[in-house]
Amino acid sequence: MDILAVVVPCYNEEDMLPITFESLRNKLNELIDKNKISPESFVLYVDDGSKDKTWELIEAENKSHKDVKGLKLAGNVGHQFALTAGLVFAKDISDISISIDADLQDDIDVFEQMIDLYHDGNDIVYGVRNKRKTDSFFKRFTAQSFYRLMNFFGAKTIYNHADFRLMSKRALEQFSKYGEENLYLRGIVPLIGYKTECVYYDRKVRVAGESKYPLKKMLALAIEGITSFSVKPIRYIVFLGIVSVILSLAAFVYALVSFFMKTVEPGWTSLIVSIWFLGGVQLISIGLIGEYIGKIYMEVKRRPRYNIEKFTS
Ligand code: UDP
Ligand code: MG
Repeated sequence: MDILAVVVPCYNEEDMLPITFESLRNKLNELIDKNKISPESFVLYVDDGSKDKTWELIEAENKSHKDVKGLKLAGNVGHQFALTAGLVFAKDISDISISIDADLQDDIDVFEQMIDLYHDGNDIVYGVRNKRKTDSFFKRFTAQSFYRLMNFFGAKTIYNHADFRLMSKRALEQFSKYGEENLYLRGIVPLIGYKTECVYYDRKVRVAGESKYPLKKMLALAIEGITSFSVKPIRYIVFLGIVSVILSLAAFVYALVSFFMKTVEPGWTSLIVSIWFLGGVQLISIGLIGEYIGKIYMEVKRRPRYNIEKFTS
């Protein structure tokens, strides 16, 4: 039977953890009783350099329950890296992993469905939020703009999916080959390419502690996502340059007409035409240089170029 590792990144979660411990423990036992997962399954809590009692709580929980493991990072590296640390660590000692936030806003009752879908041959199962009625209007609006912006700039992501997902061991193995420094998990996972499926659930409100993702961090994540996955913004510069050159033609006609109608000061015509034209040429040139930089950027990531799914001899 498959060993399940539930990976939970935690940053200053002392208020939340006692509740999380109990819920996850019960869920794991329930799944074990139903023979869905191996009795060796465990929950791995990753302490992302918390400043409160998070680690002490994890240690205590580990002492009293053998199905709980703890991983303490030496400093705060942020949600994405903390989760990666946990996943990469878990992949050698488990067969399936499910990543979930410590606040359990994501529904642990869909674990079972995720595992069933895994047994149906899916290597990745995304948890997708049905509605966002429990989030404030502001959070909902900013989060939705986030996905729109991401897609517009060419970083394909699963709509309304955060980092709540199941990944098989081999999906994690392929994932760990992405050695990039600018890490945006939601963008990388779809690149792995195995068969995937989604499960839907309603996101709950945070019952204890407060959100560690204020607007500032969300914006940082959006910029990270866009700039790590696409060089489209550079392409828009070229586009802007072309528009500018076209406008310079219009400006040229307008300036000529004004010149012959003698409604302008001498010198204005040549100035205005040069400004538009040179501006356009400069933008196109910057964009072209950018295209090359974009190539270099993609190249230095050294991403795996393919992922072999099966081989028949
Ligand atoms: N988190 C982390 N490191 C950080 C910030 C957050 O490991 O620097 C964890 C946090 O403990 C939680 C998860 O990331 O388990 C998501 O954070 P949160 O629930 O505050 O975000 P929100 O749900 O409000 O977007
Ligand atoms: Mg949360």
